[in-house]
Amino acid sequence: MKKTSLLILTLMCMTTWMYGQKKSTDSNRPALVVGIVVDQMRYDYLYKYADRYSNNGLKRLMREGMNCQDNHYNYAPTVTAAGHASVYTGTVPAVHGIVGNEWTDVATGKKVYCTDDSTVNTVGTTGKTGFMSPKNMWTSTITDQLKLAQNFKSKTIAIALKDRGAILPGGHSADGAYWYDSKEGRWITSSFYMQSLPRWVQTFNAEQRAQKYTKAGWNTLYPINTYTSSGPDDSPYESKMAGETAPIFPHTLQGGNPLELIRTSPYGNTLTKDFAIQAMTEEKLGKNGTTDFLAVSFSSTDYVGHSFGPQSIELEDTYLRLDQDIAEILTYLDKNYGKDQVLVFLTADHAVADVPGYLNSHKMPGGVFDRVKAMSEIKKATQEAFGQTDLIIGEDNSQLYFNKAVLAKMNIDREKLIQVVKQTLKKQAGFQELVDLQHIEGSTLNNLYTTIIRNGYNPDRSGDVMILLKPQWFIGYKTGTTHSTLYAYDTHVPLLFYGWKVKPSEVTERTSISDISTTLANWLHCMEPSGSIGQVIPLKR
Ligand SMILES: [Zn+2]
Repeated sequence: MKKTSLLILTLMCMTTWMYGQKKSTDSNRPALVVGIVVDQMRYDYLYKYADRYSNNGLKRLMREGMNCQDNHYNYAPTVTAAGHASVYTGTVPAVHGIVGNEWTDVATGKKVYCTDDSTVNTVGTTGKTGFMSPKNMWTSTITDQLKLAQNFKSKTIAIALKDRGAILPGGHSADGAYWYDSKEGRWITSSFYMQSLPRWVQTFNAEQRAQKYTKAGWNTLYPINTYTSSGPDDSPYESKMAGETAPIFPHTLQGGNPLELIRTSPYGNTLTKDFAIQAMTEEKLGKNGTTDFLAVSFSSTDYVGHSFGPQSIELEDTYLRLDQDIAEILTYLDKNYGKDQVLVFLTADHAVADVPGYLNSHKMPGGVFDRVKAMSEIKKATQEAFGQTDLIIGEDNSQLYFNKAVLAKMNIDREKLIQVVKQTLKKQAGFQELVDLQHIEGSTLNNLYTTIIRNGYNPDRSGDVMILLKPQWFIGYKTGTTHSTLYAYDTHVPLLFYGWKVKPSEVTERTSISDISTTLANWLHCMEPSGSIGQVIPLKR
């Protein structure tokens, strides 16, 4: 009797042990991975507005997650398309090919948009806004690799107001990538993914939420005098919204097409959050017995940031509201999966400069480079030196593309042309260096900057020379701000991991944007993307 009991007990223990083993094998991956990219989010925004973030949003990710505090882009130009491609491919423009939002086709001199694809059609509306696919991206993404690892049985859905913010993260094998069309305020896609919108997307569009959100206009979430992290509301460093005479609250959002203006308001993010939650519910993400992937990017932070800058009440309000949207997503994940069955990461596609005029008002250096004058002076100088004005056929991402055909035909020495351009630019305020992109090793810049430039250079798609301005100088406008440089204010972005297997920790060692997909591949036990150059960030337990 005693022996039998012992046997039963042993068997029970064995079963429990075996079940435990099996369970841990099955739990090798979470039910759902959620990638969040906040467009134009600087690292310091995690802290700058923290006093008034809720307990359940960004602060929860910081408190309960792994906070990589010194995470940087490792290439320039730091712009949206390159950023989204790099987060998800674990590599740099030199390898994945997305060297900017657009670039010049070296053969024809024509502009190419990063996700242009004339072989596909718009799905969900009329017009060309859906002539898009990821075909210009030469490598796979972590979203592709996770599908590959699961015999394409899992699902990937990618969502952003900006087409490039959805298409590039979704990779080549996404089940759906959706972006926003402001003509009728709809979420659309392209025939690359499907021939017609799923019924749930049609239903969502029919609800006309964009129209409803913009109707009330945009006022601050809290009384305006409590926005003490920002400058005055009426500031000479901010741009005006369409139809407005001053950059001040309340913004009516009625001065132009409200369905377009929603982008430059926190409601663009809220609309994105609504759609993302609907996608998780309707597509039953994480409920299919596989590890699914939701890639969501919040674009409105970029539109608001460009118009009003980092010191504006508009940006502060946008982040306070984004925090609430993120809290709602985390609450949804809690309710439907549990924290240990989801893996969330949050980062940004680039950061942003301060408004130069604002810095000047506080005696700090910076300025707006007079691009129009620079280009006309270059034209004059090349006419004088070579008798030619058409030696430059393209200008993108602070790079100049030389007209190789004319250079060859007229037997013009490339080196001599570079010297003429450089001497001309040297006369202009804000100019630092003209970098010959074909001979980056010949530059006198420090190692970090030469690496950043080399990582962003792709001979098939990049220009011949890069105009490097002094820190806090940019090509743009006197009001608002922009990004794209190799300087830390453009490269330093948040990186937070949260949920499945992640313990609260802070990483102060420098990490790079390439590490994100490599780290996810390691944790999810799949191969890293095809062009990956990142390293695994050690999981602190
Ligand atoms: Zn931007």
